[in-house]
Amino acid sequence: MPRKEIDELTGRYLAPFRIAKGKGFKLKKFDPSDTCGLELEKGQARELLQRGTERLAEQQDKLFAQDRWSVLLIFQAMDAAGKDSTIKHVMSGVNPQGCQVVSFKQPSSEELDHDFMWRYARWLPERGRIGIFNRSYYEEVLVVRVHREILNQQKLPSRLVSDAIWDERLADIAQFEDYLTRQGTKILKFFLNVSHKEQKKRFMERLDEPEKHWKFSASDVREREFWSDYMRAFEEAIQATASKHAPWFVVPADNKWFTRLVVAAAVVEALENLDLAYPKIDAAKKKELDGAREALSRERSS
Ligand code: ATP
Ligand code: MG
Repeated sequence: MPRKEIDELTGRYLAPFRIAKGKGFKLKKFDPSDTCGLELEKGQARELLQRGTERLAEQQDKLFAQDRWSVLLIFQAMDAAGKDSTIKHVMSGVNPQGCQVVSFKQPSSEELDHDFMWRYARWLPERGRIGIFNRSYYEEVLVVRVHREILNQQKLPSRLVSDAIWDERLADIAQFEDYLTRQGTKILKFFLNVSHKEQKKRFMERLDEPEKHWKFSASDVREREFWSDYMRAFEEAIQATASKHAPWFVVPADNKWFTRLVVAAAVVEALENLDLAYPKIDAAKKKELDGAREALSRERSS
């Protein structure tokens, strides 16, 4: 498929899901089973995704060589929305040396002895690298908000804890992202939007298929009771932190092939907009290369 056609396609199914301004954002306007009318067979979807991952790999090579920008990809979702498999498929072509995936689970006691951003800040990507956060500091306004008892474990001085704490945290996150942006970190945030119904189906599959048993956790099923609390928390988080420089993508996640295409398109688009290029060599470096060529050609062949 020619590049222009791919660009057209990606443009069409990326724009509807990009949230660059949080004000007025309503999650219920987003259909988890949306595919923008696109109907692809498995093979076609795979081919299109491969084109995306090839372009991503090309860009990553330049990102690494140029060593100026860093890229932070944040994945948030309810369980079984496909975070792991999306990361696996979208990043399949990239050089592992330039990429790091970090999964954030319940914090350790050492982590609870610090401010909430501490453990996330330690894993931010270096210049030239892509950092993937599988869950992130957004958990601090999602799971911690839904389960208020987790907040009590965070050892905050009590006079600092009020009903305003979530708005305060969201403002801190937005500012932190402004700061990172000004430091040369390109931030993209993905909410994989799976439906309540599709999640049930995927849990059932985990129960039915022995090779998926390891993925099953009874506590994930209990979390379904809090679905609407989570959705409210997600909506407020997106409203408070979506911006042009650090947009959210509310990615339909009931069809995995579509999820992967949208995420790949978003990453490719962001990287291509950075105008990455291999560093140009100066006269001294050129002389060094010429000298090396000469020395190599003078070597006697053994
Ligand atoms: P998997 O796909 O393997 O289930 P996962 O990301 O769900 O991946 P789990 O080990 O199942 O990993 O769950 C991690 C848990 O840690 C989640 O329930 C998440 O909400 C929780 N968690 C993450 N960050 C925090 C935090 N800051 N405070 C409390 N809980 C957190
Ligand atoms: Mg889990």
